[in-house]
Amino acid sequence: MRVEASEPAKQPSGGVMGRMELSLSFFRRHLEGREAGKELKRREGADRSVRATSRVYNPAMRKAFAVLFLLTISLPLFGQSKPDVDDLKKQAISAVEGRQVFTQQMVDQIFSYSELGFQEHETSRYVTGILEKNGFKVERGVAEIPTAWIATYGSGKPVIAFISDLDCIPRASQKPGVAYHDPIIEGAPGHGEGHNTGSAVNVTAALVLRELMEKYKIPGTLKVLPGIAEELLGTKAFYVRAGLFKDVDIVLGSHVEASLGTQYGQSFAPQGLVSVQYMFHGKASHAAMAPWDGRSALDAVELMDTGWNFKREHLRLQQRSHYVIINGGEQPNVVPSEAAVWYYFREMDYGHIRELYDLGNTMAEAATIMTGTTVTRKVVGSAWPPNYSKVVAEVQQRNIERVGMPQWSDADQTLAKALQKELGKPADGLKTKVDELKPPSPDTELGGSDDVGDISWNAPMVYLRYPANIPHTPGHSWADGVAEATPIAHKGSTAGAKVQALTALDFLLSPELVKRAWDYFKDVQTKDAKYTPLIGADDKPAIEFNQQKMEKFLPELRKYYYDPAKYKNYMEQLGIQYPTVKK
Ligand SMILES: [Zn+2]
Repeated sequence: MRVEASEPAKQPSGGVMGRMELSLSFFRRHLEGREAGKELKRREGADRSVRATSRVYNPAMRKAFAVLFLLTISLPLFGQSKPDVDDLKKQAISAVEGRQVFTQQMVDQIFSYSELGFQEHETSRYVTGILEKNGFKVERGVAEIPTAWIATYGSGKPVIAFISDLDCIPRASQKPGVAYHDPIIEGAPGHGEGHNTGSAVNVTAALVLRELMEKYKIPGTLKVLPGIAEELLGTKAFYVRAGLFKDVDIVLGSHVEASLGTQYGQSFAPQGLVSVQYMFHGKASHAAMAPWDGRSALDAVELMDTGWNFKREHLRLQQRSHYVIINGGEQPNVVPSEAAVWYYFREMDYGHIRELYDLGNTMAEAATIMTGTTVTRKVVGSAWPPNYSKVVAEVQQRNIERVGMPQWSDADQTLAKALQKELGKPADGLKTKVDELKPPSPDTELGGSDDVGDISWNAPMVYLRYPANIPHTPGHSWADGVAEATPIAHKGSTAGAKVQALTALDFLLSPELVKRAWDYFKDVQTKDAKYTPLIGADDKPAIEFNQQKMEKFLPELRKYYYDPAKYKNYMEQLGIQYPTVKK
């Protein structure tokens, strides 16, 4: 879908509508919940007495008198029922702290599930179960993705959405709290990115907010969504296509990092991309007895790759493109009738990504002409480069500074320094200061992509980095799993949950702030470029991905699922001394 500035669904609380929302929500506060009936009766009574005593006045005066009367009985009640923002924030912080065991258990539980993209069945069952038990309405299988869901609480504006990834990394199995490579299960998937912490952050924040909203009759809607198959850049464009963000006012994403910070604007990293597989179809024959009857699909793969590698010299320096051959045929004496290659085309903006992708398609077509084969393609993932909101980031930054970094113990620092030493990196331990809010980075040396980019072009969004990992890890590896079920991840997730809750409160309580975020979104963020999906109308999410890899390890992984009824934490269940470091 395209986001146009005038699209009515995207008008959050601006202009006249916004003012109406504000005054309506003011009264709604009095009409909801247990007090609603009583309050309504009081008002009716008040109204009757106004009518009785005002027969002598003209209708206009009567109306003015009624409004004045209503206000005088409503205002003191309103003042009593809802504390100010600062007081609510204090309550939110202590409520998140009160849930530290809950957060720790979520972090450890999801770490133990270790599920790859599109196969997050146990994880999704677990997280949605918690949300449902706590009054959220859960819709499963959204956007034609079996493991995707959306959980909703509350009603009306503003609508605040939380999103964080769920999936793990192939071959990244690692014992938590151990500062060297030591897999729980050799070769198995593992949380070598720390996505096990994101749901703990967002769900903790959402449950705390739900409590406050209920207690003080704060209007608004909370939505919680998982980043399914983020490692494949596999779902967000489909979420947008399914309209999951159509009525969302503010998106608060969160992602594990070794720091506490946020950002705004479009930096040169991450980039956007299309991830696409080309399947070539030829004709099999005996490679020695009748090679002339064969048409080699592998030839087509190799010619496409060769063409691309020659072309590479003439592409912009900003592009990154890479491929792996995922099917090269069966054995040499059979002319391969089927072969396939998987490409990532990365660039800085929609136009350049599109250009690179079109060029790839041309190369594939050209290879079929040279070889007498045909080609089909499957888009596995896509991502727009992120475009984060400065208005939301500035609000979030104030909350980041208020929350501050966790208090690390000697054991936490010992683990961090030992891992850094093991990796041959500076052994400077865990960060103790929050990040400053900096302007977008012009560094073109950075790469990588994240499909939350698509969401950031459809609603004002920020991506909180919370401190649940160790600095200088390589990413996507066993080393990034070392801290992910230890006090580093537990404390970092609690800090993240606080920032998420406080930032949501700022927007829940201020329609003006929501309006400012949308004005900035329309007038600055999307002034020159509007969202056009990189996926085509016929593209479908790659839900069959990782199925076999996961099935292979599931029986073994199940033996190691965390049991919080028996063990205080996952390290205790695994019998790990914290920290375990080389002598
Ligand atoms: Zn990630």
